[in-house]
Amino acid sequence: MLWPASTAPCCGSRLSWKENIPVLSWLFLRGKCAHCGHGISPRYILVELLTGAAFAWSAWQFDLTLIALLYALFFTLAISLFFIDLETFLLPDHLTFSMLWLGLFGSAIGYLPVTPGDAVLGAVLGYLLPWSINKLYVLIRKHDNSLIHNHF
Ligand SMILES: [Zn+2]
Repeated sequence: MLWPASTAPCCGSRLSWKENIPVLSWLFLRGKCAHCGHGISPRYILVELLTGAAFAWSAWQFDLTLIALLYALFFTLAISLFFIDLETFLLPDHLTFSMLWLGLFGSAIGYLPVTPGDAVLGAVLGYLLPWSINKLYVLIRKHDNSLIHNHF
């Protein structure tokens, strides 16, 4: 295997390939885990459908090119971040940094309608703005309840 076997989020049971087909497995299992009978959130289906739609749109828009892949990856990361944020109020660094580098790379090879200079400026502003808001908040409230400060 090239990747670790998938496990059910409810009970940790190993999933066979039949239980791991996007969308179809969920419909086939009627939204329930085959191992413990626990209901599987339709959110998984939504994420799978959205990701599938993102890949389809990218291929339709740009054919099977590198830029299509860049857009598809961007949407996949955005979808993941959206649902993780919704559930945990956190944006994991490995996802946001992947998105950052994806954008810088895309502009560096001239595949995005943004110059590399603008892309770097955008990244700097993207850091400075929340950082400044956090510092300002700390100054005013003398209290730091943000997770951002860990990185500076
Ligand atoms: Zn289960």
